[in-house]
Amino acid sequence: MGWQGTNGVIQIRGQPVSVALPPVPFYPTATNLVATLSSAADNWQPLGIWEFSLSPSAAAGRLTVSPSFLDQAFLILDHPNSPPLGHVHHLVPPPADTRALDLTLHRSGAFSEATARYHLQWPSDAARAKDLESWRRQAVSPVDWFYVELTSHCNLSCPFCPSRLLKRPRAFMTLDHARTIFSKIGAYVRRRDATWGYTETDRMVFLHVMGEPLLHPRFVDIVGVARQAGLVPGLFTNATLLNAKSIGKIFDAGLSHITISLNVTGQEGYSQLGARDGIDDQEQRVIALLRERNRRGAHRLHLDIQYIVSAGHAVSGRGLVESRQQAWACYRKWLLLLRHLEPAEHPAADRRPSIALETLGDPLADKTGDPSLRLPLDVGVDLVMKSGCSFGNAVIPSGKTLRPASRGRCPFDSPWRQMAVFVDGSVSFCNMDHENSVNLGSLLDSSVEALWDSPRLQRIRREMTAERLTEPLCRRCLGTVVPQAGHP
Ligand code: SF4
Repeated sequence: MGWQGTNGVIQIRGQPVSVALPPVPFYPTATNLVATLSSAADNWQPLGIWEFSLSPSAAAGRLTVSPSFLDQAFLILDHPNSPPLGHVHHLVPPPADTRALDLTLHRSGAFSEATARYHLQWPSDAARAKDLESWRRQAVSPVDWFYVELTSHCNLSCPFCPSRLLKRPRAFMTLDHARTIFSKIGAYVRRRDATWGYTETDRMVFLHVMGEPLLHPRFVDIVGVARQAGLVPGLFTNATLLNAKSIGKIFDAGLSHITISLNVTGQEGYSQLGARDGIDDQEQRVIALLRERNRRGAHRLHLDIQYIVSAGHAVSGRGLVESRQQAWACYRKWLLLLRHLEPAEHPAADRRPSIALETLGDPLADKTGDPSLRLPLDVGVDLVMKSGCSFGNAVIPSGKTLRPASRGRCPFDSPWRQMAVFVDGSVSFCNMDHENSVNLGSLLDSSVEALWDSPRLQRIRREMTAERLTEPLCRRCLGTVVPQAGHP
């Protein structure tokens, strides 16, 4: 593919082409160049905006239009004294029915300004369709977070979790399926990192969608399979199965992260989860895990101790965190427990927790909108206050009803960032999709890329970009829980 400029018209054919910058009569100082790409039929809505800062000597500079990728290097400044790549804003691929593109170059300095326009055309419809499809594929953001469900069985029945109502079959992922799934995710992540320059810390894969992963009889083997695939496995557990044997296995397996979902405070709340023992037993299990972590000096294993905040949210169940006082009571308890464990070796680590001033005032809500507010307890150990977790309003408290939303956008950008793989290998774009209502296909017989670029997910993203919610899952999740008629 290439471009040739003739009287302001660029033919997309063969090699990249160099185009002249609009000349300005006075340029004793630096000038700015803003390049805007738009669809020729719809030029009020830019597809991309690049901003360049030109050194004073760049009067005769040129831009190379390099169209094989619609990215920051689509336009390259050909001048030794100015950065070759512009700061790029708002880059989206053109719609599939685009016939031609307009490139507008606006240059401004202290005393003058000038504009030049180029019309970009393809030599044939086939060439145009090929480029537009290639640009669209390049623009699909990569999967950031993978969630892999090892089992849909659970040994608790928390009132705020839809697990107890699950209609999908209860199953354990087989070791063979785990090998296929993790090797595909591992290969994808390596390709992704090679393309996007990620670091290995982003190779985390969470071993959970629904169910209690420690129930899996081959848990350690599966963690090994994930690690062999080059991934960094993280565990979510309700902590009820922690004991000397399983704790040993957890450390031997080589996990990098554990979220311990305690969820509730107090015996009443704990019993309501379906637990058969006392909350003190539950806390002792967590302390045993923390003690073993210290004993082994395994401080690279990050731990989150998680509670659910119900204040202001419609979550069923007793014992959830309702107030700041309760949040700080939890915090004090775990801080003291941690401080009184066997002294840990923390080479060069500062154990004094540092909490932002605004969090001190309100430990129930992260000001960035993240539903998980972190309160540091120790090196690599956080207390997490998680807001309103009921799997996207999958469980509505009694006396309340749901008013589904028809418009909105996912606060986590899940359709652009998240892949949930269920116990049978089928896939959704969101880990709130507990029944896999979306089901994009199976990772057992498709690649991550094919599922991530499936027509259904393309449509969901397109509609959500326009704030239209097509999936009942998202309509429910972004809906509003209100009192039923006759209830306060
Ligand atoms: S259900 Fe939809 S809106 Fe809710 S978190 Fe998932 S993708 Fe986002």
